[in-house]
Amino acid sequence: MTDPAPAPTTLGDLAPEQFEHHARVLAHWIAEYLAHPERHRVLSALAPGEFRASIPAAMPRDGESLEAILADLDRVVMPGVTHWNHPGFFAYFANTASVPGILAELVIAALNQVGILWRTSPALAELEQVTTAWLRDACGFPADWFGMITDTASVSTLQALAAARELDPALEVRHRGLAGRSDLPRLRIYCSSQAHSSVDKAAITLGLGAENVVRLPVDAGFRMRSDALDAAIRADRAAGYRPLAVVATVGTTSTTSVDPVPAIADLCARERMWLHVDAAYAGVLALVPAQRRHFVGVERADSFVVNPHKWLFAPMDCSVLWTRHPQVLKRTFSLTPAYLETQEQDVALSLSDYSFQLGRRFRALKLWWVLRAFGQEGLAARLQQHCDFATRLADTVVRTPGWQVTAPVGMSVVCLRHVPEGVTDEAVIERHNAAILDRVNGSGRVFLSHTKLGERYTLRLAIGNLRTQWTHVAEAWALLQAATL
Ligand SMILES: *Cc1c(COP(=O)(O)O)cnc(C)c1O
Repeated sequence: MTDPAPAPTTLGDLAPEQFEHHARVLAHWIAEYLAHPERHRVLSALAPGEFRASIPAAMPRDGESLEAILADLDRVVMPGVTHWNHPGFFAYFANTASVPGILAELVIAALNQVGILWRTSPALAELEQVTTAWLRDACGFPADWFGMITDTASVSTLQALAAARELDPALEVRHRGLAGRSDLPRLRIYCSSQAHSSVDKAAITLGLGAENVVRLPVDAGFRMRSDALDAAIRADRAAGYRPLAVVATVGTTSTTSVDPVPAIADLCARERMWLHVDAAYAGVLALVPAQRRHFVGVERADSFVVNPHKWLFAPMDCSVLWTRHPQVLKRTFSLTPAYLETQEQDVALSLSDYSFQLGRRFRALKLWWVLRAFGQEGLAARLQQHCDFATRLADTVVRTPGWQVTAPVGMSVVCLRHVPEGVTDEAVIERHNAAILDRVNGSGRVFLSHTKLGERYTLRLAIGNLRTQWTHVAEAWALLQAATL
């Protein structure tokens, strides 16, 4: 006699009634969290390894109840969370989960769309086109830009530079690769000393080589020097190298400086190079008509990246890549094995033809809900308010003895530091400001980060959280001043 098979009802998913019950509990928990983020320390106080040690070393043998699992949210998970949703989060660039974005993520998980082909989710494929076009048009960018959504700016830039490598089909990189070819010159990418490390990572991943990323000097405002770019391209041509692409940054990570895109675009046109604009943080600021001055010339870009998960209140992750050359992206990435052929493939767009990944999440849904819930005016007003807070803080800092604003404030980031009277040694100033940063972050009330501008260590206060009000900025400033003592 063998054992009877288990009754089918004991296998499969948890019951929908369980979902409904726990979703209500969680909805309440999330609402409380959003209402009182300040109850938490912004920066988690855990030591490395402490979180892991609070969890069993092996998975449970039998399934646990959802009650037990959810109870661990407060007990286990929350102590290890750094609160990006906290209005006192001023480090790096902010990233807010807004209410429409959180609701959309719930539905994204429930519908579980896998966008490999148009037919595997017509809504995903077409909504990605619609939302990226809405955002493009609201920003005043060219109507012929083709958009898609990726996870991060790092991946968007990787794809843009992969396309740049295919711009000249004579290089035959897609088919023959780069290694072992004596017929190919070294391919070069140019960016400023302030450009994001994702440019180097893309060059590493694409087999171009980290040393073929040429980092150019900047002017006193941390903008790429186009004369230096011109000279570097000429020197590389003379040495037999092949200039491939320039990555210009609009809103650099350290100071939000803006490279001179019109002059760079002229050089790219002259040299037949691809121009990729990295505006991961700042790109959405084009929603504010009064801020369009930062975007002069970007209409000449071959590709442009902005992260709605940074300053447009879409939860992690959501990066938008636009390009003027969808056909080059398609030439780079399209590959249709027999099992993915469909009768509608000539009339229906499949985004996997334009990108490295095959499957994609339904990220367009959260972008759509965020754009609809706040509207163009609502988003623009929030971004402008963040810029106004930054200007107001910088005005206060420069009038305070001992304090310096260390970079021009063009957007919503203030770089600042304290220099005790009579001290000129950079190493001493660095230790002093690093200690200030530790004390301020140790308060649990705010979280700031730092950067280096040349040799100068500087603190960095980046405003961009949806829930940040002036009182939070003022509190950060009060904590900074108190920490100098
Ligand atoms: C944040 C940032 C990036 C990287 O963004 P990810 O989405 O984390 O890859 C790239 N460039 C700039 C200018 C950034 O500010």
